[in-house]
Amino acid sequence: MSIATIDPTSGQVLKTFDELTDEQLDAALARAADGFARLRTTGFDERARWMSAAADLLDAERDDVARMMTTEMGKTYASAKAEVTKCAAACRYYARHAESFLADEPADAAAVGAIRAYGRYQPMGPVLAVMPWNFPLWQVIRFAAPALMAGNVGLLKHASNVPQTALYLDELFRRAGFPVGAFQALMIGSSAIDRVLADPRVRAATLTGSEGAGRSIAASAGRHLKKTVLELGGSDPFVVMPSADVQRAAEVATVARCQNNGQSCIAAKRFIVHADVYDAFAEAFVARMAALRVGDPMSEETDVGPLATERGRDEVAEQVRDAVDRGARVLCGGDPPERAGWWYPPTVVADLAPGMRMYAEEVFGPVAGLYRVSSYDEAIALANGTNYGLGSNAWTRDPAEQERFVTDLDAGLVFINGMTTSYPELPFGGVRNSGYGRELSAHGIREFCTLKAVWVGEGVAGPGAGAHSE
Ligand code: NAP
Repeated sequence: MSIATIDPTSGQVLKTFDELTDEQLDAALARAADGFARLRTTGFDERARWMSAAADLLDAERDDVARMMTTEMGKTYASAKAEVTKCAAACRYYARHAESFLADEPADAAAVGAIRAYGRYQPMGPVLAVMPWNFPLWQVIRFAAPALMAGNVGLLKHASNVPQTALYLDELFRRAGFPVGAFQALMIGSSAIDRVLADPRVRAATLTGSEGAGRSIAASAGRHLKKTVLELGGSDPFVVMPSADVQRAAEVATVARCQNNGQSCIAAKRFIVHADVYDAFAEAFVARMAALRVGDPMSEETDVGPLATERGRDEVAEQVRDAVDRGARVLCGGDPPERAGWWYPPTVVADLAPGMRMYAEEVFGPVAGLYRVSSYDEAIALANGTNYGLGSNAWTRDPAEQERFVTDLDAGLVFINGMTTSYPELPFGGVRNSGYGRELSAHGIREFCTLKAVWVGEGVAGPGAGAHSE
């Protein structure tokens, strides 16, 4: 895929960008190594000042950055503005908390014959971040804010369809005060990733993206013995039980499915409803989905804009077509308009069954699968019945049932009576084919730190003469 901004509302190519030559890439890696040598000597206070300055820039430039994102990938302008604000908040969160998250971890010194013993977190070095287009600012900030606060250096390989957002990020941290090389966007295609991972100056990688890209990066990183964090796809269940507030569940379900034009890894995708409330939920949900306004993402009247790429739109259309060909029923939508751009209407599909692509795959667009179940056990079996395990939602007002869902849902995130959302304060990540490792919270900042064991003695006892060693 070439690196270009293509307007998803029209399919028109607005701007193209050249890929880095081998020499330019090598120079960028050298800058990253130099940037790390400089950044690792700075203190938390200094980095926190720069990170807060980055937050101030994001706030001040919010509207322009949001417009750029909407132009590049079609999210509504209102949601793009909210994304910028959330990024500024995450920068401030890590500016405030990085030092305490990475404080030395005391160990029992007497038990190991030391006068002092502790674990110390230290940055690893340059980290390659391969990122998707769907939240083109947030996905990057959620990696970069903790990474830079820890003293690591970021090398961003952004999705090929959001190059202007990548270049904005390339400059943001330098403008905020971080040293040259502390954060760079590499204008490269995915075929150059193996070369970057092979380079000894690069110490680790994180990918947010599809399962296929995850497998490819993990294989490459494995060959070069580099640590990875993988945030991959999901087909999140949204379970509605008889005790739920069904009308509220239908309202939230609509947002949970169609946020970001249906292109969120943690969007609810499979709606699993108990037979006692199925008809009431289906009626309210379909009415709300059908009433969403599809159109110009810059307009305040619009709920759902175009899909980001032609390939993505075609894939969603094909998944729905496959389900219908095999006997599923479309309750609303399902008919993409004949017009320029990559539009797909909010759609609800019922009577899904094993063998249909939608039953097992992630649908990355505003398409909901509706399932009827007759017991808790059936709901759990279906909820856990894909290879994914990212977010999950359960609606029930029964406290004992809430506890059961928390334990039984095989996912990285469980939201009861609400939709899955990411917060800087909560760990974020999946299980099974949704990936491994955690972002956000204290856990996120530690992923790319080495935990060094430190033992300090007086030189008269403990490790040394006569001590057991491996
Ligand atoms: P994608 O096609 O996997 O692309 C993501 C990034 O990986 C892009 O930078 C892409 O580069 C690169 N890439 C693609 N194929 C690759 C390969 N074989 N080897 C190495 N890199 C490769 O995903 P997307 O379409 O942008 O995003 C949608 C997917 O991301 C969905 O599955 C969604 O659920 C997932 N996602 C997960 C999370 C999470 O936190 N778990 C968050 C957001 C999205 P090019 O653009 O140059 O191809």
